[in-house]
Amino acid sequence: MRVNSSLSLATSERSWDVVVIGAGPAGALAAHQLAKRGLQVLLVERKEFPRDKVCGGCLGARAVELLDRVGLSRLLEPSTAGRTDALQFYTRTSTLRLPVPGGRVVCRSEFDRQLVAASIGQGAVFRQRTHAVVEPNLAVGLRRVLLHSEDGQTETVTAKVVLVCDGLSGGALVRLPWMRASPSVGSRLGLGTVLDDAAEFEPDRIHMAVDTPGYVGIVRLPDNRLNIASAIDPVALKGRQPVAAMSNILTACRLPVPENFTSSHVKSTPLLTRRGGQRACERLLLVGDAGGYLEPITGEGMAWAIASAIAAEPLVAEAQRAWRPHHSDQWEQTVGHLVASRQSICRSLARLTRHPRLLSYAMRSLATVPWVVAPLINHLNRLPPRLETLC
Ligand SMILES: Cc1cc2nc3c(=O)[nH]c(=O)nc-3n(C[C@H](O)[C@H](O)[C@H](O)COP(=O)(O)OP(=O)(O)OC[C@H]3O[C@@H](n4cnc5c(N)ncnc54)[C@H](O)[C@@H]3O)c2cc1C
Repeated sequence: MRVNSSLSLATSERSWDVVVIGAGPAGALAAHQLAKRGLQVLLVERKEFPRDKVCGGCLGARAVELLDRVGLSRLLEPSTAGRTDALQFYTRTSTLRLPVPGGRVVCRSEFDRQLVAASIGQGAVFRQRTHAVVEPNLAVGLRRVLLHSEDGQTETVTAKVVLVCDGLSGGALVRLPWMRASPSVGSRLGLGTVLDDAAEFEPDRIHMAVDTPGYVGIVRLPDNRLNIASAIDPVALKGRQPVAAMSNILTACRLPVPENFTSSHVKSTPLLTRRGGQRACERLLLVGDAGGYLEPITGEGMAWAIASAIAAEPLVAEAQRAWRPHHSDQWEQTVGHLVASRQSICRSLARLTRHPRLLSYAMRSLATVPWVVAPLINHLNRLPPRLETLC
C-alpha cells in the first residue's frame, strides 16, 4: 500500500497527471478509475483514514450496480454491506412501507477505507493528514496545489488536471471562492452518530421518521451497530442539544429512542443545500458534494458521487493530454445530465418533508395504490443512459 502521510519525493517535487483532493466516494473512486487507466494520480486527504462521516450509509440499487460495473462489488460483500429491501416512513399519523429491493447499508468509515485501498491497489498514491488548497494561478499549463501537512510543512505540487472532491466542508477552494456553491436559505444541516449495543430497530430496512423540524434515518449496520443520521432545521437546534432534537422527532413519530442515544457523541455537518458556484474551470473539475448537494432524503449522495466520478474519467483522461476550454462546459453538462433529474425528485421530496401533514396524506394515498410504487422505484433505480455507455 503506497500510503504517504509525510512529505517525501514520492509526492512532492514532481508533477502529476491528476491530483484528487478528498478521499470520500467521489475522490477515491475517481482516483481508482484514473489510476486504472495508467495515469499518475495523487489522492490527498486531510483526515487520517479510516475516518467517520455523517451519513445514512444507504446505497440504492443504482449505486450497487455502478460499483459492480467498475469491478468493485467486493466492497459490497455481506461482511461490509448489509442488505435492505424496504424503506419504512413514519410521520405523526401514518406509516408507509415501500419496497426498495437491492439496497445495501454500509459503515462509512469502512466503506471509504476500502475504496481508498482499491485506488491504491490500482496505483494511486494516497497522502492523508494533508490539507490541499488549489492555487488560483496556473503554472505553464499546470494547476498548482498547496499541500499543508499536519506537521506544519507546506509544499507545492502541480497537475495537468485537479479534481476537487472535498465534500461540503472542504477548504480546497478558499483561494477560488467563486467556484464554491453557497448554502441556500432555509437549508437544513446534517447530524449523525453510530451506536453500539442498541437493541431497537430491525435490520433489512431503512427507518425514516419525518416531522416538521426534519427527519431521522436509522439503519442497522452489518456489524450490528445502529447508524442514525438526520437532516434538521438549524432553528430546531436553538437552545437544544442535537440528541434532544433528534429524539423529539423519533418520539413524535412514535418510534423508540435507542437506550444509549442520549449519551452518544453526535457529529454535525455544515448547511446541506447548496446553490450557484461553478463545477469547472481551466484544468479543474468539482466532483461529488463539492459540486453541489441538496438533502439526504432520497439517500443518493453517494450514488451521485460515484456516478460523477465514473463520468469524470474519460473527460479527465482527454483533458490531461491537452486541456481545451470546452472541457469546462462539457463537465457542467455531464453533471447536469447525471444528477439534475434525480435532484429534482430529491428537491420535491425534501419540500414535502417540510409539510408532514401533506406527507402523511401522500403516504395514505400511496398505500391505496401500491401498484404505482414498483414502477416508480424501478425508474429511480435505473442508470442514466450516459452512464450505461461509460461503464
Ligand atoms: C445526514 C446525512 C445523511 C446522508 N445519508 C446518505 C445515505 O443514506 N446514502 C447516500 O448515498 N448518501 C447520504 N448522504 C450524502 C453522502 O454522505 C454524501 O453525498 C457523500 O459522502 C459525498 O461524497 P464526496 O466524496 O463528494 O464527499 P465526502 O464523503 O464528504 O468526502 C470529502 C472528503 O474530502 C476531505 N477533504 C475536505 N477538504 C479537504 C482538503 N482541503 N484537502 C484534503 N482533503 C479534504 C474530507 O476530509 C473528506 O474525507 C447523507 C448526508 C448527510 C449529511
